[in-house]
Amino acid sequence: MKKLLLVKYAEVHLKGQNRPFFLRLLTKNIKEAARPFGAGVRLHDSRILVSGYDDEEACVDAIRRVFGVHAVSPAVELDKADFDGLCVQAQAMMAHLEGSFKVIARRSDKLYPMDSPQIAAEVGGYVSSHTPKLTVDVHSPQHVLQVEIRDQALLYVENFPGNGGLPTGSSGKAMLLLSGGIDSPVAGYRIARRGVTLSAAYFHSFPYTGEPVKDKVLTLARLLSRYCGSLRVYVVPFTEIQQSIHQQCPDDYTTLIMRRNMMRIAEKLAQKEKALALITGESIGQVASQTLEALSCTDAVVSMPVFRPLIGTDKLEIIQEAVRIGTYETSVLPYEDCCTVFTPRHPVTHPKLKQAEYAERPLLEENLLEQMIQRAVDGVEIIDVRP
Ligand code: ATP
Ligand code: MG
Repeated sequence: MKKLLLVKYAEVHLKGQNRPFFLRLLTKNIKEAARPFGAGVRLHDSRILVSGYDDEEACVDAIRRVFGVHAVSPAVELDKADFDGLCVQAQAMMAHLEGSFKVIARRSDKLYPMDSPQIAAEVGGYVSSHTPKLTVDVHSPQHVLQVEIRDQALLYVENFPGNGGLPTGSSGKAMLLLSGGIDSPVAGYRIARRGVTLSAAYFHSFPYTGEPVKDKVLTLARLLSRYCGSLRVYVVPFTEIQQSIHQQCPDDYTTLIMRRNMMRIAEKLAQKEKALALITGESIGQVASQTLEALSCTDAVVSMPVFRPLIGTDKLEIIQEAVRIGTYETSVLPYEDCCTVFTPRHPVTHPKLKQAEYAERPLLEENLLEQMIQRAVDGVEIIDVRP
């Protein structure tokens, strides 16, 4: 008898001819997540099986987070020839439960002496006669015992839901603009869940924003990496640009111009990384720089697609998701970010592109802005973050 985890995958099933590619990638990502627990992972007969872990609960938790996992079931593998032993084991796995149950049996070994309905009836009969608190209900049971007869027999009852999505690495790369706030980690999570590998850019305005903010952003990146695997964070020195905007541009346009320059720099970093899109945590109307007019003024400076997965999401919903994925507590730590330090009293809410360009003009003289952007790109600090 051997304890193991059976990992079920979701959308990967639908991938037709590409399925082996997705499955191999998913297996590799699960291997990485299970490594700290000393576990081995094998892909066998289209099933992903994990064994040899030291801490079952923590290992299940780590694997549930991996994108592409539909559910994880702790299972027991045993000799299919010993049917009596199988019944005893089934009963042991159900002994702590009460209420109604049924057994679902499947067999891929068509030479097995019993067919699936017979297996289910025999095992179910044995369990109910040895477990007084359990009764059989084949229509809407509270518990389901699964019995699978392959090259071995596999039994499992519990089913811990996973995160769904597609395996990280199956959908190219994108650059997340990651601040220390609530929204951007959730935005990154949503896109990463579709199989996209993330890199992140954080705009750091030292000394206006101190080391604690940078640490907070790195912690958020690490929390994200539990789902999507290791990611590279670019810490961009942004003080010079922030100060120049503050000194030379009309007050009501400073936030918008700052955002345009974050986009310009993020796009340059993305190109270096061969990332194909940018991701932000913006949501319509959340603040002045997120009205439709402001968003189109920001988009105008880049040619890459900008993904804003929270665009139609209410703040309360974003908060709920941040709590669920475990980033909320870190996001609400009370450190100022660069945006609050330089926030104008009356930011323009319905900017026109022509006016934004006009407001930005003082920076363009003698290629000043281009040089500052280049200095920021050259001065990035690169930090690789892993779970
Ligand atoms: P968050 O949106 O993450 O909660 P926030 O609300 O303070 O932070 P906004 O001012 O709303 O940030 O900025 C909108 C988006 O711009 C953020 O979601 C993030 O993608 C990006 N952004 C803002 N500030 C930074 C920064 N310092 N570094 C990287 N990206 C940033
Ligand atoms: Mg926000």
